[in-house]
Amino acid sequence: MAERILVIEDEPTLARLLTYNLSQEGYEATVADNGVEGLQLALRQPFDLILLDIMLPGMDGLEILTKLRRHGVRTPVIILTARNAEDEVVQGLRHGADDYMTKPFGVAELLARVAAVLRRSRGGEERKAGEENVIRVGNLAIYPDKYEVTADGEPVALRPKEFEVLLYLVRRPGVVVTRDDLMNAVWGFDYIGGQRTVDVHVSSLRKKLELGPRSARIESIRGVGYKLVLPKEEGVPG
Ligand code: CA
Repeated sequence: MAERILVIEDEPTLARLLTYNLSQEGYEATVADNGVEGLQLALRQPFDLILLDIMLPGMDGLEILTKLRRHGVRTPVIILTARNAEDEVVQGLRHGADDYMTKPFGVAELLARVAAVLRRSRGGEERKAGEENVIRVGNLAIYPDKYEVTADGEPVALRPKEFEVLLYLVRRPGVVVTRDDLMNAVWGFDYIGGQRTVDVHVSSLRKKLELGPRSARIESIRGVGYKLVLPKEEGVPG
């Protein structure tokens, strides 16, 4: 059976673009164009995932998210935030969002996030209540809900963008990620700061994580971008 996705988005062009592409991927998409209707649908019908805009008429996305979680609705949520609204992202993740996309975003990237969140939610069904969402890579433990990282159990202080770069790489181990991918995913499509920004953040990440022999490494792919190499992949060709 097709997985059901609720799109709570008041911008008609974006809502149409999303539903069209989600249907093409085999999902069953339902749209709510205001906050009140969105919340009602989310409370009444079982969905597998919710794409939740923050700025909405009727009731904003953060309020919807808070109410859903308070009602015990654990449906994974990807919030759609305005550009340069780091505060919305942090608030959203704090209120129980699973991931976020910064507008404007590419559809391919969104579909990848949707698939990843659904995969995690299926895999996490046996997770006990209260157990933490954590990604373990080598000596690192990454907590996407809390924007926290530990190395060998010790907290590492990362800036939000450094955390997002790390999370993006960690979710794609062994895959070459171009600087453009990272720019679009972390800074947004129309960011004008240049690719040097990506390099600066990666370099700072490497220093802060003090990557040792047991840890994953962020490898530079000359002229292209970066790749996260897991410790167990050491010496495997390709
Ligand atoms: Ca909106």
